[in-house]
Amino acid sequence: DELPADPDTRNNVRQVEGALFSHVSPTPPAGLPYLISYSSQVARLVGLDPTECERPEFPLLMAGAAPLPGSRPYAGCYGGHQFGVWAGQLGDGRAITLGEVVNPASGQRWELQLKGAGKTPYSRRADGRAVLRSSLREYVVSEAMAALGLPTTRALCLVGTGDSVLRDMFYNGNARWEAGAVVCRVAPSFVRFGTFQLPVSRGAGEVGLVKMAADWVIKYHYQELEGQPEPYLSLLREVTHRTGRLVAGWQSVGFVHGVLNTDNMSILGLTIDYGPFGFLDKFDPDWTPNLTDASGRRYSYRNQPEAVQFNLIMLANALLAADLVPRDGAEQVLQEYSQVLSESYNARMAAKLGLREYDRTLTQELMRLMYDDDADFTNTFRALCAVNSSGAKEEQEDGDSRPVGLPAALAAALNGGKPLSEERGAAWRQWLQAYRARLRAEGQPDAQRQSAQRSACPKFIPRQHLLQWAIEAAEGGDYSELEALMEVLERPYDEQPDAPAKYSSLPPEEMVRPGVCMLSCSS
Ligand code: AMP
Ligand code: MG
Ligand code: MG
Repeated sequence: DELPADPDTRNNVRQVEGALFSHVSPTPPAGLPYLISYSSQVARLVGLDPTECERPEFPLLMAGAAPLPGSRPYAGCYGGHQFGVWAGQLGDGRAITLGEVVNPASGQRWELQLKGAGKTPYSRRADGRAVLRSSLREYVVSEAMAALGLPTTRALCLVGTGDSVLRDMFYNGNARWEAGAVVCRVAPSFVRFGTFQLPVSRGAGEVGLVKMAADWVIKYHYQELEGQPEPYLSLLREVTHRTGRLVAGWQSVGFVHGVLNTDNMSILGLTIDYGPFGFLDKFDPDWTPNLTDASGRRYSYRNQPEAVQFNLIMLANALLAADLVPRDGAEQVLQEYSQVLSESYNARMAAKLGLREYDRTLTQELMRLMYDDDADFTNTFRALCAVNSSGAKEEQEDGDSRPVGLPAALAAALNGGKPLSEERGAAWRQWLQAYRARLRAEGQPDAQRQSAQRSACPKFIPRQHLLQWAIEAAEGGDYSELEALMEVLERPYDEQPDAPAKYSSLPPEEMVRPGVCMLSCSS
């Protein structure tokens, strides 16, 4: 109520000027909505007794088939740079916020947003719907990222709409009907960098909206900045720092967002808008899960830090254009990005190697070896957690009879699990020797180091093929794969000896293909 709404309440596609959002109601699907899964943890976060999610009306509310009493739903208005090019108005084309709830116990505000609940004024030529495939991916990864300890939007539930949705996954003319679904996303706020950019692009008449949006964000989400001498510069600084730490977190777990456009950048420093994302299996810095980006690789693993820097510059430009921040101050803040990012990255990489201090040479040599031998990013680091600083009778005893003489878990993470050549084995043994020397120099007891190291090296991540298996089962009406996967991903750093091996294994060859490991934005 505090921000300017679009006075037009029709639900037709249009340019929305002079407003930050439009009131719009979900379009009830033609089919009968049904519950697929919910997160008890997120239910509790928003102050909901998890058993409420099992009531028969819950899927109707969450699919937009029945109005939530007392709510006045809306879609956000924002623009964005897509792949470096200004795209004009984008907005929530298929996301509709039901409203905000305040958890009475924690006092925390949470916005509940339905993704796929029908068209809005921002739907452009698209249908406002989402398919089960992509919705399941967003549902699972939201919770997996949270469990990994990375800032992210959350997901309360996944419901089927009972409708079919037409999608052309590869944009090759082979459209097919897929099950429709809705994820209820949850975050303190879904305001994006693009929220600040759009009014600026429309000229002097709208720049006032930038200040309104910034004041609102500070009032509800950065209270500590209220009353500071330069509140907007402090906001830019805080967003920049949070975002820098976020990217360091992504790099440390091998997460590749895939579509780092400014409309997909959260003003709260959260990971937002999961589409063609992916986690590195074999370490290849040029990898991107986004088929649409396969030639440019603008958003590859390697390029994420720079892509995000561009986005921060675009945010700063919007604040500058609205006269909210001084130019020299903004430039200074933007420079802090690389600093914060590398400090945070170095600390995370040190922790992944079980070291108190970052060792650039050792880390870079490891990455080089990983690249040369197609090392699985996650399993390699996890295997290093078991290394003994002494050089290790135990390691040889528990197991490695391979000619290359590497710890068994490490050997299994390399070269698709196939034995290395004698020469490559020697290169790894040499690195391990340097690593052990480094561990001995730091002098931490192995057991203590290993347990800290394991809490920086996840064993379980939502790999593309695991998501695909859950999708295929769910498309056939079987949600047990999904539930089992969610349970394993809830404790990614625990050993979970009873978890089936498939959850931490390399993808089988037949699962490394477009549509599984590489995806388009068509969702
Ligand atoms: P994305 O690349 O997923 O961030 O989407 C870019 C823009 O397209 C956003 O404004 C989305 O709301 C919009 N969009 C994506 N898919 C759909 C859809 N199926 N229906 C309506 N709008 C969509
Ligand atoms: Mg988006
Ligand atoms: Mg999207």
